[in-house]
Amino acid sequence: MSHVIPVWSVPSVAVIGETGSFPVRRIYCVGRNYAAHAREMGANPDKEDPFFFTKPADAIVPSGAILPFPMATKNLHHEIELVVALKSGGRNITSANALDHVYGYAIGLDMTRRDLQNAAKNAGRPWDMGKGFDQSAPITPIQPAAKIGHPAKGKIWVKVNGQTKQEGDLADMIWSVPDTIAYLSGLVALAAGDLIYTGTPEGVGPVVAGDRLDGHIDGVGALALTYAKA
Ligand code: MN
Repeated sequence: MSHVIPVWSVPSVAVIGETGSFPVRRIYCVGRNYAAHAREMGANPDKEDPFFFTKPADAIVPSGAILPFPMATKNLHHEIELVVALKSGGRNITSANALDHVYGYAIGLDMTRRDLQNAAKNAGRPWDMGKGFDQSAPITPIQPAAKIGHPAKGKIWVKVNGQTKQEGDLADMIWSVPDTIAYLSGLVALAAGDLIYTGTPEGVGPVVAGDRLDGHIDGVGALALTYAKA
């Protein structure tokens, strides 16, 4: 089929041990999935069903990049997260079958223009411009589940300029990976190529031009990202 403008390439993520890459269809993100982080954002984690927002597929950027500081923000925040990559999907997936749809796992940053997000929250407006901006979804190469299994516990942390800012454990997720997939598949049809950023532990905070971020999840790997000096 021909097109009237040039077609862009499908965004994709490298896979450890494979020459082929993982093509990205959609990016879903879970809000407030660690109790301590929900509390630091002023929410009560005991009462909430999971909720979701999205980022454009082309918001991904590979670990190791040096990024320009994002436009239109004076309060950029880091959120370190376990990312789930789906090889198949469907509607109304059960928790018991959910992991059958997982291709693998990566470490991601749900970069957030907190000032724009807070202004949107206060005005009752959508979060999109706070969350779904250009290069807002850094991600490491994917570790296939066939190789590392399905991590359900283990340390997750991020350092800024060598100083630990967020530290948690995957076991502290309110909604586990299977429960998240099950719940989300009751809202939308999931499919191969979908990424799910599964939420962040407490300690979110600002990033400024010139900062270096180092992230880690036990058994998944390491992420590095630098924002260029102003
Ligand atoms: Mn997040």
